[in-house]
Amino acid sequence: MTRIHHLSRGTMCPFGGRLWDGFSPLFSSAKIVCHCLLIETDAGLVLVDTGFGLADVRNPQRLSTFFRLANRVQLREAETARRQIEAKGFAAADVRHIILTHLDFDHAGGIADFPGATVHVLDIELAAATKRGSALDRRRYRPMQWEGSVDWQTYTADGERWFGFRCVRDLVGLPPEILIVPLAGHTAGHCGIAARTADGWLLHAGDAYFYRGELHLQEYHCTPMLRFYQRLMATDNTMRLNNQARLRQLKTTHGRLVRLFCAHDAKELDMFPPQPAETVPAPAERLAEPV
Ligand SMILES: [Zn+2]
Repeated sequence: MTRIHHLSRGTMCPFGGRLWDGFSPLFSSAKIVCHCLLIETDAGLVLVDTGFGLADVRNPQRLSTFFRLANRVQLREAETARRQIEAKGFAAADVRHIILTHLDFDHAGGIADFPGATVHVLDIELAAATKRGSALDRRRYRPMQWEGSVDWQTYTADGERWFGFRCVRDLVGLPPEILIVPLAGHTAGHCGIAARTADGWLLHAGDAYFYRGELHLQEYHCTPMLRFYQRLMATDNTMRLNNQARLRQLKTTHGRLVRLFCAHDAKELDMFPPQPAETVPAPAERLAEPV
């Protein structure tokens, strides 16, 4: 039986409370999580996003000073994916694959903590992160987080259909229950990661949206600071808003079959208690293939 663990790796606690997260006291710090997935498969452990890594904890200067201070990034070794996975009884070498929604500093920091893993990412994202063509890109993309001999596996943002979205289905070395769903806008090659479970699908939407209220079917809304932050960080804001609207549509039409969550909303993470784990069904139990 395959299990899916929901991890929060590394948090950010900017001042302003509910102006960011919608629930913390106004004159306290907000709670912004980094929601990652650890999927047990026949191909080994698969980590979806890595949060901050051990080297970020040891050397915070790997991150841009601006984002480290503005977001009040909390760097604690016990919160790294490496240490959390070890606490579950696994070894770092058990992680055979890492799939990244994108290469921002708060998603890619732990790549080096799993040297045996293949890292799956869209080709345009790796190209943008390598080029670092703007002042924003030089702050958000931190190549020291993936320097060394990373085993990259890149894909073009196209492929088969999945609930009206394009998806990349045949990820090298991974079971077909795990898909890349391109959702550009936040960055050039940003994507969601879909995984099929016994109850339907999970879609880790990464930073395609930041606040649970943005997917409300009626009167969708966002907190002022997260609205500002998303606009600031958008590589293509029109595409970002279009993809957010498509995710709302997906929730409207298939909300029972696809459970959506983003990377940074603490309340959404709370929807997934640690146990029992989500399960991926045996082949005979699989749902009919969606169109
Ligand atoms: Zn992020």
